[in-house]
This record gives sequence, C-alpha cells and structure tokens, in this order.
Amino acid sequence: MTDAKQDSAAFDVAVIGGGIAGVSAARAVADTHSVVILEQENELAHHSTSRSAAIFVENEGGPIFHRLATASRPFLETEHSELDAPLLDPLPVLKVGSEAERPVLQAEAEQAAQITSPVRLIDDGELYELAPMLNPEFVSIGVYEPTAASVDVMALHQLYLRRARNHGAQVRRSARVTALSRAPHGWTIETTDGTIGAAVVVNAAGAWGDVVGQLAGAKPLGLTPKRRTAFTSPVEADPTDWPFVYSQIADRTCYFKPEAGNQLLCSLSEENPTEPCDAKPEEIDVAQAIDNINHLTTLGLRSVNITWTGLRTFAPDRNPVFGWDDSVDGFLWLVGQGGCGIVSSAAAGDVAAALIREQSLPAALTQLGVTEQDLAPRR
Ligand SMILES: Cc1cc2nc3c(=O)[nH]c(=O)nc-3n(C[C@H](O)[C@H](O)[C@H](O)COP(=O)(O)OP(=O)(O)OC[C@H]3O[C@@H](n4cnc5c(N)ncnc54)[C@H](O)[C@@H]3O)c2cc1C
Repeated sequence: MTDAKQDSAAFDVAVIGGGIAGVSAARAVADTHSVVILEQENELAHHSTSRSAAIFVENEGGPIFHRLATASRPFLETEHSELDAPLLDPLPVLKVGSEAERPVLQAEAEQAAQITSPVRLIDDGELYELAPMLNPEFVSIGVYEPTAASVDVMALHQLYLRRARNHGAQVRRSARVTALSRAPHGWTIETTDGTIGAAVVVNAAGAWGDVVGQLAGAKPLGLTPKRRTAFTSPVEADPTDWPFVYSQIADRTCYFKPEAGNQLLCSLSEENPTEPCDAKPEEIDVAQAIDNINHLTTLGLRSVNITWTGLRTFAPDRNPVFGWDDSVDGFLWLVGQGGCGIVSSAAAGDVAAALIREQSLPAALTQLGVTEQDLAPRR
C-alpha cells in the first residue's frame, strides 16, 4: 500500500456498494451488528440506483421478483416518521401489446393474479379509456396493474441510510475495494481509503458483482450488466392521469411515464450487454424510442430534455442472487436485481439480515413460497 490510510477497524459486516441494495442491507442488520458501507464513488447511489424509472410494480421480472416486491410493499407503504411525503404515489401500470402478444400477456396476467396483485387483462374500450394516447391500429390489449406506483427512490435510499446510521453504521465514500483476503477470523479488506477488517462481506456491488466476487476468490455467477437509456420529453396534453405505459410489442418496445410539468419519462427499454461502467446514453437508443412511441401513440414526441443511462444487471436465469457463497466463507451475494432492484430492496435487505443472523427467511417471503434455494448463488 502506498498513500492509503492504514485502518484496522473491525466490523461485523462490511457492505460493498452504497446503492439501494447495500444501504437496505445495512439498515436491516445494523441494529444487531456493527456495519460499514464501502462505496467506490464519492457519493452514494451514483450508479443504477439514481438512474431508474422509479416505478413500483409487482408484476415485473418474473414470479420471484414479483414476490420480493410484494413482500417489500408494506415497508414502502408505511408512513415513516422521518419523511414529509409518502414513498409511493399511485400510478397504474399498463403493459400493452398487439394481437400477436395476446397469448403471452394473457399467460402473464394469469400467473401474476395467482401471486398477489390485482393484475388483469383488458382490451377494447377500457384500454383506450385508460390510455387515450394509444393508437388502436397497433395496440389492442393490455395487462393492467392498478396498484402500481411511482416511488421516491432517493427518499427511500436516504431512509435506509438514515436508519443504518442511527444504529451506528459507518459510511466510507471514495473507498473502492481493491483486495479481499480471508483468514479464519474474518476478512481483510483493502480499499483506496485504507484497510478494514470484517467478519462478513456483503457483495452489493451491482454491475461490479462478479468483479468483487473474484476479489474474494468466489466463482463468478455470470452476471451481465445491460445498458438502458431513459430521457424526458415534453408533451402538449396534460399526462397527469395517464398510466405508465409499457409496450411489449416485438420490434416496438418502449415505455413512457407521466412526470410533473407535462413531461414524459421515456425509454426504448433496451437491454444492451456491457462491461460494468459509468454508462452513457447513445443517441440511437433515444431516436428509436421516440420512433416507437410515436408509432404506437398519437403523442408526436419531438424533443428531448434530459437523457441518462444506467445498468440493469442480471444473473443468467434473471432471478436475484441473495445468499452465501457455497465455497467462500462469510461472503454474501446481494446482486442480480436486474430491473427490479428498487421494488425488491426492502425484502433484499431483510433477506441479507436474516442470513447474517442465521435466521430463516422473513415470514413475508416464506408465506409467498420463496425459499433460500430460490435465491441461492448455485441453485
Ligand atoms: C433506466 C433504468 C430504469 C430502471 N427502472 C427501475 C424501476 O422502475 N424499478 C426498479 O425497481 N428498478 C429499476 N431499475 C433497476 C434498478 O435501478 C437497479 O436494480 C438497482 O438500482 C440496483 O441497485 P444496486 O444497489 O444493486 O446497484 P447500484 O446502485 O449500481 O449500486 C452498486 C454500488 O456498488 C459500488 N461498487 C461497485 N464496486 C465497488 C467496489 N469494488 N468498491 C466499493 N464500491 C463498489 C458502485 O459504485 C455502486 O454505487 C432501473 C434501471 C435502469 C438503468
């Protein structure tokens, strides 16, 4: 080590990554364990967490994510005394398709309805009443989730962080973990801000999950970060009462979400594999999104205000990985949240805390049929 500080502080738990997953895990475990959050950037939530579409939707990402979102809902719906406004603001979600997508959307609605949320298939008059901007020539069916909501992601992140700190958790910014070595008593963690000791490491490094895993000597999970760009665009009509519309139409994928000030938050909903990085927008993805939205609607989008890109990181089976590594002691994976890391964050933190405390999974999850094996790294 050259100019880095020497710091022999020993913690029960070192969480690598200060995004939504890391701070939720810290919040959940800090009342019983000493915790340090290590973040490579000089601010927390710099990567995927601050770049989402901020939607709380249960029927998204398949049955496991659906159940994690359902289990997370009570935390997000609670009126937390630290906050001036609710975390959730009702915003129904409408996944739309053409007749070609009817069988897939029908199957999805039936599967979702078996879990919890009141998801249902709609078409004809009801569809165009809910989403008057849709072009009936191309869109004829939708899966409607009336209980979805817009979520205040930064308030949620701050809430988790505040709870963690209130229980004594420490935060080290600009502390990129560069080496991890395991001795019988625990980990020695080298960072760009000094060396730290911890009994347990939680890998909440998002797109860098496999990079951090390899530092610990764990076999890579095969995580793939995928770029997705979003942008805002002004519309003439007042979109306040519109749902979040998400096209599942092959070759015409896109989504748009009403925002304040007659703006829509839009995306092509693309998934472009990449290395872990500070992802930047590519003009072609924005242009294609505008073309698709204008094809499927009467909106006639013309201009773009703000554009950003984030990474959604998937395990090979697209399910989350929340569990102990099977060959490296004291190394807990909390990765693979794909496009559902915000909605699943409360449950993710609770799972991490339960595993660290050697308890069973939270009842909210087991009652929905989620097992440790469903979430385990080698399933
Ligand atoms: C356009 C877009 C729209 C989305 N919309 C939604 C949505 O509506 N709802 C939803 O639930 N999800 C959505 N998502 C997904 C969601 O944003 C992610 O699943 C979630 O933010 C992942 O959180 P995280 O904490 O795992 O990762 P991150 O927020 O990326 O945090 C990981 C952190 O680890 C740090 N790190 C990495 N390596 C190291 C190291 N070696 N040392 C120290 N620190 C390290 C990184 O700097 C980073 O801050 C969207 C994503 C995108 C891109």
